[in-house]
Amino acid sequence: MPELPEVETVARGLRQAILGRRIVSITLGKTDFIDDPMALEQHLPGRRIEAVERYGKFMLLRLSAAGTNGNLSDDAAKQASLLVHLGMTGQMAPSPAEKPREKHTHVCMLLDDGRELRYTDARRFGRIAYLAEAPLAEELTRFGADPLEVGKEQFAESIRGRRARIKALLLDQRVLRGVGNIYSDESLWRAKIHPAQLGENLSRKQAETLWRALQKILRKAIVLRGSSISDFLDAEGEPGEYQRRHRAYGREGKACQRCKTVIRRGMVAGRSSYFCPKCQPAPYGFVVSPLPKRAATAAAEKMERTRRTAKSRIKMGQKGSDLPY
Ligand SMILES: [Zn+2]
Repeated sequence: MPELPEVETVARGLRQAILGRRIVSITLGKTDFIDDPMALEQHLPGRRIEAVERYGKFMLLRLSAAGTNGNLSDDAAKQASLLVHLGMTGQMAPSPAEKPREKHTHVCMLLDDGRELRYTDARRFGRIAYLAEAPLAEELTRFGADPLEVGKEQFAESIRGRRARIKALLLDQRVLRGVGNIYSDESLWRAKIHPAQLGENLSRKQAETLWRALQKILRKAIVLRGSSISDFLDAEGEPGEYQRRHRAYGREGKACQRCKTVIRRGMVAGRSSYFCPKCQPAPYGFVVSPLPKRAATAAAEKMERTRRTAKSRIKMGQKGSDLPY
């Protein structure tokens, strides 16, 4: 699922590509992920896209005020926005109108320069809503601070007072908006905190280290245009590159890049969570998932190889750098 860096990447791409364009007409396909499809058909044509912003994992396409032709209610005439959540597989990108529409294209907005802004979503876990100013403001009050804007003190306060697992707190959009499974695991690995630790058990220093890790990782991921795990593509149709920098997420059975211990997985907050059992000590009673057979064999073979190398070094009279003698 796209998280803050991926959504930021798409928003930046759209800002480059469609800012200032007017929506001429709109065609809808399947609409079960759209709040009020008729509102889109009624209010979007004629509106200009004045800004593209990111709010947590949402994108906001800020629209110009509607023309006062007497047909629109007061609310609709005021500034309004199109709220877009990419869900699991959503993609939003401009395309030449003559290019055949891809499968699962459910929203097509014809722009005044002849291109179409298309939204495709195979699984339709995304969400699109046309919201006037007041309902949008109400919608957005449910969310916590942006992790790139939140101060160190505020961040520490929001997690240290909580008797919930730190991973659950990072995923909770009411605490922080924009962090998901990938960037929570990556920042916890970097901060050497186990995902199942309780927020209230973290020291102030740990909370601050986590805050710093989160900032650093999110900013780097934005520079690398996000992580392409399954099918994330930016507004230019390019995959991101941050997945090459993953240190924990999706690396079960592989060596920790800090201490060489095998990365493990366990369920925290109902999600698969990846961590280094040595760098990130687990709280008492935490259950680790058994390694998949192939990874377990590879890990055992690696240990055996290390043992043999060490033995032969001793035989040869060499001093292995990893040996105590
Ligand atoms: Zn480690």
